Amino acid sequence: MFPSWSWIVGLVFGATIGSFLNVVIYRLPRGMSLSNPKNSFCPICKHQLGVPDLFPLLSYLASGGKCRYCKTPFSSRYFWVELLNGSLWALIWWQYILVSYEPLKAGFYALTCAALVAVIFIDWELYIIPDELNATLLVFGVAYQAFNHSLNVALVGGLAGWGILWGIALLGRLGFGKDAMGHGDIKMMRGVGTLIGPGLLVANMAIAVVSGLVIGLALMFVSSRLAKGQVSGVAEASGGEEEVYEPESIGSLFIHGAWYLLCLDIIAIAFPKMYKWIGEEQLEQNIDDDDWKPSLTTIPFGPYLAIGAILCMVFASPIEKGISTYMQNLSRPNTSFKTTGLRFAVTSRKRINWCAETLTGGSKQGRNFMSCDTRRSARGGNDWNVA
Ligand SMILES: [Zn+2]
Repeated sequence: MFPSWSWIVGLVFGATIGSFLNVVIYRLPRGMSLSNPKNSFCPICKHQLGVPDLFPLLSYLASGGKCRYCKTPFSSRYFWVELLNGSLWALIWWQYILVSYEPLKAGFYALTCAALVAVIFIDWELYIIPDELNATLLVFGVAYQAFNHSLNVALVGGLAGWGILWGIALLGRLGFGKDAMGHGDIKMMRGVGTLIGPGLLVANMAIAVVSGLVIGLALMFVSSRLAKGQVSGVAEASGGEEEVYEPESIGSLFIHGAWYLLCLDIIAIAFPKMYKWIGEEQLEQNIDDDDWKPSLTTIPFGPYLAIGAILCMVFASPIEKGISTYMQNLSRPNTSFKTTGLRFAVTSRKRINWCAETLTGGSKQGRNFMSCDTRRSARGGNDWNVA
């Protein structure tokens, strides 16, 4: 229906929306209006940006990443957000317009990816996920499933997203006395779950945990090396005062959990007085007044959940295929999965027997051995009754 080069349309549209996402990423958490001022402005000289500044990707490259008026360099984030969203929309165009023709899915997946790109950059910088974005995710999810005549998927997926994340928060609080999960993460996965359904949601969680561990550990390694050089400076700045860590009360966790389950947080965006019901004066806190400073090793989990959700949407079909193959193997008898499991059990048992015999026989003869496996190979294979 469309020629194969038409993925460029996705790239151009995606980069243009990415340009708007830069406005969202800057203004939304700062409590600024998205529509006023209408034109973007340079944050330094406040000069309104003109037509030559409004071409996504190209304007940044042409101006060398600087304001055309005061020559102050812009953050490279502006470029990366446009490139990331452009690439994602190109991939979605490829997958859901060219490979399989599902325009409804393409549209909602593209819009949701854009919202998640905003989540990634806001949560990474400021450790919050604005309620407006979480509401947007839920609305996209419910609308897509309604058009698709599958509101039951939305219900199960949304409940699963809410339940898994809130459950982790509760377990972390009960088991370790720590805030294990941010409230924004619970609300985000409630919305994502309605769109992608329970199957992909589990894959999403797995990707988030694995990528969070890998990237998180790498960052902790890097930042701990940085911290070693900065220790004296930090101690002076904070006056040596250690802040007392006070986790959220279990009662509050239950109240907020019920609040998110009933989606009252979304209604409260229009009626801010509702926040009093859960003992919050107003949720929209001014980030500039917020004196909470995360430690160097604090890493938000939201970006990893969002990355997992994006990968689940872009690569939905291979992931779904993998899940269904796995489920079939679990339910079918005498499959390769079970045979492999059985073979593993038998060889493990043989190996344990061999180790036990070598251990008892070996110790009597006063032998010094490093490990069963090296001795076994040293004696040339399977004669494990010799000892
Ligand atoms: Zn400027």
